[in-house]
Amino acid sequence: MRTELSARAALPDVTVVGGGVIGLVTAWRSAQRGLRTTVVDPAPGGGAAQVAAGMLAAVTELHYGEETLLGLNLASAERYPSFVAELEEATGLTTGYRRCGTLAVAFDADDRAFLRELHALQQRCGLESAWLTGRESRRLEPMLAPSVRGGLRVDGDHQTDPRRLTAALLAACERAGVGFERATAVRVLSDGGRALGVALDDGRTLSSGQTVLAAGSFSGRIEGLPPELLPPVRPVKGQVLRLRMPSGTAAEKYGPFLSRTVRAVVRGRPVYLVPRADGELVIGATTEEMGWDTTVTAGGVYELLRDAHALVPGLTELPLAESRAGLRPGSPDNAPLLGPTALPDLHLATGHFRNGILLTPATGDILAEVLTTGELPERARAFRPGRFTPGGSAAPPHPVLAPPESTELPV
Ligand SMILES: Cc1cc2nc3c(=O)[nH]c(=O)nc-3n(C[C@H](O)[C@H](O)[C@H](O)COP(=O)(O)OP(=O)(O)OC[C@H]3O[C@@H](n4cnc5c(N)ncnc54)[C@H](O)[C@@H]3O)c2cc1C
Repeated sequence: MRTELSARAALPDVTVVGGGVIGLVTAWRSAQRGLRTTVVDPAPGGGAAQVAAGMLAAVTELHYGEETLLGLNLASAERYPSFVAELEEATGLTTGYRRCGTLAVAFDADDRAFLRELHALQQRCGLESAWLTGRESRRLEPMLAPSVRGGLRVDGDHQTDPRRLTAALLAACERAGVGFERATAVRVLSDGGRALGVALDDGRTLSSGQTVLAAGSFSGRIEGLPPELLPPVRPVKGQVLRLRMPSGTAAEKYGPFLSRTVRAVVRGRPVYLVPRADGELVIGATTEEMGWDTTVTAGGVYELLRDAHALVPGLTELPLAESRAGLRPGSPDNAPLLGPTALPDLHLATGHFRNGILLTPATGDILAEVLTTGELPERARAFRPGRFTPGGSAAPPHPVLAPPESTELPV
């Protein structure tokens, strides 16, 4: 009897399935609230954040029809400074958070028309962005090609380094006493109409009071749930390159290669360049519906280099350090699924698509509140998992400010 009781006392209050950036922030916040928390992941600290550019681009990432998501993105961007300060203080690690701003530029007349549309939408949403001529854009970033036709200066869109962020979150979890099970969760266990934990691929089971499914694009593949409860997430492939910018005397003599994030539509194709303080230059990203494929292709690399070169010709001189592909967890409305499901004690934190790094602080806060109070906070109601279920609690439709067009700057 005593053994049974002590075994039960050792059970976690919360099991988080998935130790990517979203699972880790959920676990850290949960442990900080005094909940005994365990993360299940064969390779915690991996996932899409190992590939992601880390743009915190609430304003330049605005798309028609996504104004509800914009509110969450802006709130999370606002949380970033205090979030990283707390994380860095807790771990002694840096997160690469850089308040560098963003310049979105156009390459030809069509691209400029597109950028004008984006500017108009940003203004209708009350966002801060300033229109620049091509010359003004080049004055800000002298490495830009002479053919750049105009730009949008967005001083509020910053960046962080997702690899450093993830490493810091992993350390913060360990320090806060989060347990780690290096295994794959294969099935959600339930009984009496409640979630009871998960079964692992090594045959063990892990029981807990509450279970959070935060397995990124894999979240919809777990067994044990009826179809209507499976999160409707899919993998959206993105290929990314990493180059090294000049450092030392060259940088001192000629100034920074790029000083802010530069995004563009180059003859209709989107591309971005994210310069880190440590000299890394991230070029991304393709957007491909290719299932679970993470192959880096010659075509993907060619397109990225071709468009980035058209924008910043001098980059062909830089050493190419890495090419990699990752999977964004896409949802039907491009917004995350957060909070309780129709199965009591099972929660979701997934579907963050192209904004998972940006939404890390907000997701941690929201899930901590859900796990401690059982309630989804008012500001997160539009992102409840039930919104896709027929007859389920549908989200209010996004207010569409203009007819939907293809106006994408990709992440
Ligand atoms: C090319 C690219 C560029 C991006 N750029 C940006 C950007 O600039 N800004 C931005 O905000 N976002 C960006 N993103 C999006 C962002 O990276 C993701 O939204 C975010 O990393 C998703 O995190 P996650 O923890 O939900 O999922 P993931 O990172 O996919 O992590 C899921 C974790 O779950 C684990 N797992 C899977 N199945 C199981 C299982 N059955 N049991 C246990 N563990 C499991 C995996 O091992 C993994 O560690 C980009 C993504 C890509 C691919």
